[in-house]
Amino acid sequence: MNKSLALNADLHCHSVVSDGTLTPEALAERAYTNGVQLWSLTDHDELGGQACAQVAATRFGIQYVAGVEISITWLDHTVHIVGLGIDPSNPGLIEGLRQTRDGRRNRAQAMAEQLSKVGIHGSFEGAQLYAGNPELISRTHFARFLVEQGFCRDTETVFKNYLVAGKPGYVQHRWANLENAVQWIRSAGGVAVIAHPGRYHLTALQMTELYERFKDLGGLGIEVVTGSHSPDQYHTFAQIALNYGFMASRGSDFHDPSESHTDLGLLPPLPSNLTPIWSVFH
Ligand code: AMP
Ligand code: MN
Ligand code: MN
Ligand code: MN
Repeated sequence: MNKSLALNADLHCHSVVSDGTLTPEALAERAYTNGVQLWSLTDHDELGGQACAQVAATRFGIQYVAGVEISITWLDHTVHIVGLGIDPSNPGLIEGLRQTRDGRRNRAQAMAEQLSKVGIHGSFEGAQLYAGNPELISRTHFARFLVEQGFCRDTETVFKNYLVAGKPGYVQHRWANLENAVQWIRSAGGVAVIAHPGRYHLTALQMTELYERFKDLGGLGIEVVTGSHSPDQYHTFAQIALNYGFMASRGSDFHDPSESHTDLGLLPPLPSNLTPIWSVFH
């Protein structure tokens, strides 16, 4: 593995197996076209796209590491932990993710009930039509349905008006816990990375607690350059990586050509003096 900071690594994106709109094959082709040299597909709570992604990456001559993005609840907030370099056939990881996916259907039904109270009907069935994987109905699928129905002009606006805390379609949900998620990843031979730390509405003290607990559990990395961060945040989280001795990761969090702000492989490189997370891959 090329361990250079300048390697074009994109270690975070989504396919139709979770809430993206492209197949793993189409993502591999797009990654190749955009010059990605090391790629990981990190669907939410699901490994169903890994075999296809691996085969397609090999066909395009791209190095591949298996990945996943696990939803957890930390201090009553949803946080995402990315696992990279995992063995997708690991039984503990597969079972942990199955449990994590389990509550999504009931949550979706509760969301649809709430939405119907504000005059939006049929959203459970509507969202389901957008979900490529019946086990993985996500808020993103509701957002696409509401855009199609003309309630909002884009998915961003749907989230703002309907799908976040305090809005009519929001349902509080309990995901996996941090300890379990990190342990599933590590037992499957992978490294755990805190996804888009700049996105959480946690206090500075709560973030400190998250970093410390994550490190104690054997978590190794944080995302520094991601589609969810502003350029200022690249510097903020580069400093956090240095302070805590975390390795740094880079990933677009690409979901869809028209919805995503950043495309595969097109973000700036990691800032210098960081250790890239790919230095641990063989
Ligand atoms: P869920 O796991 O069902 O709660 O859905 C979370 C997903 O919704 C994230 O992975 C993003 O893809 C998407 N998402 C969250 N917040 C926003 C937002 N403000 N605008 C657009 N998409 C969002
Ligand atoms: Mn998503
Ligand atoms: Mn995420
Ligand atoms: Mn993501």
